[in-house]
Amino acid sequence: MPTESLYPKVNVPNTDLWTFLFERNDKSFPENKIIYRDADTSRYYTYEQVKSTAIDFGKGLRSLWEWNKGDVLALFTPNCIDTPAMIWGTHWAGGIVSPANLGYTADELAFQLKDSGAKALVTQKPFLKTAKEAAKQAGIPENRIILIGDEKDESFVFKHFSSIRPLSNIQRYRRVKINPKEDLAFLVYSSGTTGHPKGVMLSHKNIVSNILMLSAGEAGNLTWNGGIDGKGDKILAFLPFFHIYGLTCLIHQSMYAGLTLVVMPKFEIEKFCSIIQNHRITFAYVVPPVVLLLGKHPIIDKYDLSSLRMLNSGAAPLTQELVEAVYKRLKVPIKQGYGLSETSPTTHTQPWELWDKTIGSVGTLLPNQTAKYMSPEEKELPIGQTGELWIKGPNIFKGYHNNPENTKNALTSDGYFKTGDVGHQDKDGNFYITDRVKELIKYKGFQVPPAELEGLLISQPMINDVAIIGVYNKDQATEVPRAYIVLKPGVEGNSKTAEDIMRWLHAKVANHKRLRGGVRFVDDVPKSASGKILRRLLKVQAEGEEKKG
Ligand code: AMP
Repeated sequence: MPTESLYPKVNVPNTDLWTFLFERNDKSFPENKIIYRDADTSRYYTYEQVKSTAIDFGKGLRSLWEWNKGDVLALFTPNCIDTPAMIWGTHWAGGIVSPANLGYTADELAFQLKDSGAKALVTQKPFLKTAKEAAKQAGIPENRIILIGDEKDESFVFKHFSSIRPLSNIQRYRRVKINPKEDLAFLVYSSGTTGHPKGVMLSHKNIVSNILMLSAGEAGNLTWNGGIDGKGDKILAFLPFFHIYGLTCLIHQSMYAGLTLVVMPKFEIEKFCSIIQNHRITFAYVVPPVVLLLGKHPIIDKYDLSSLRMLNSGAAPLTQELVEAVYKRLKVPIKQGYGLSETSPTTHTQPWELWDKTIGSVGTLLPNQTAKYMSPEEKELPIGQTGELWIKGPNIFKGYHNNPENTKNALTSDGYFKTGDVGHQDKDGNFYITDRVKELIKYKGFQVPPAELEGLLISQPMINDVAIIGVYNKDQATEVPRAYIVLKPGVEGNSKTAEDIMRWLHAKVANHKRLRGGVRFVDDVPKSASGKILRRLLKVQAEGEEKKG
């Protein structure tokens, strides 16, 4: 029997994100509540300022560029307090937002721009070079690159978003009507269980339900008027807004619940500590490598982090050792959550009161979802046994963009999504993620699709065959990608060859995809009769190598 969530069902209204956030009757916090505050400058947005800026931007899109329903706006920017208004302004105009990883090379960004069919691109001045090159490849004219942030462009070729306003103040433009279940709010990119990055189609209803599910999971612990001083919780927002974790848990949750986000464009440990101390931050979403730093880095002792009430770690497995190290040092509790781009994202989180009783668990199933564990033959397993986790609920994506085959492989006809993650559940409904059946590697929470690196490396002149796997690096608390390479006859497998290959690859890919796990030369890559790489065998080989040192 599949497991139902232990939470009471939440009522998910059939509304689009705009209506849900801006035309609601249940908002208890004031219109002038500060929601997004820049950590470095004095700039901020209140709830009402976000709304009015979004309306202006939405009207500007329609009036300047005849924005149509379903048109895609791509984002290529570090975290910035202007981003939320760009997102909801695009929704106001009926559009879809497609955020891209800021580490992308121009080719990688161009792939997403082309695949999503983006009509315009938002960036910041320091990222213009890559943005321009990618836009050119994707056929987006330069005058449709929009700048956000503090820096403008003196040549005025690139429009600052503040100048994207309706041509005249006429009332002609009305908000575009959205079908919440069918129309997309976001097109985020994930490699899913196999292959190259694909557009994950997330509807308005998907995100609305995930906000409500997450809100049930936090169970009133994050409030606009509580926190440590009755002035409300303050969340440190360094996780990238371009990843679904930041997009929903940070941008959307804060706007829905009236929480203040203190926005940091880039993670840096000392800055992280000083912002917590100076802004009296009460909560942060983190990833395991950040938890590691909190447990070990000497700089931590220079700062007062006592305002933190809780941390939530997600995007990759968190070990008991890390949780205990941080608690021992800082007395800050850490709970764990789990989710995927395809689930909008959060499907599980540890209840606040259970953080130290179920360490290692990703928590209980959030409301309105059903889950089951499946054998490799796709037979349902009894509760308690280890298998692939399948999940059903209103937060499950609509499918991969222009990719019916992968959609069919990921979603069953009765609505289950095959996560590609392996785990089990205890008798109290706590879930544990212990392995993956999918190819994906995650470096510090960022996706590294092995097929993408293999596809590039196979064209490297010295290489005959190649397989990429993830190996766990304890010192950094993350997986790192490692290449197993068969060289062409006559090429010597020495450290110079390894360096040459890495240099060649690293010029073509985002920083997080680099071969930090190194290169190993092998005689052949183990494959099944059908030619599929047997990654499991390579993992066993890698474990053997680690043991040998
Ligand atoms: P993404 O779509 O980039 O959010 O990646 C989703 C994948 O990250 C999942 O399928 C898992 O493999 C992994 N993941 C996310 N959260 C956790 C967690 N708490 N523990 C283990 N793996 C996780």
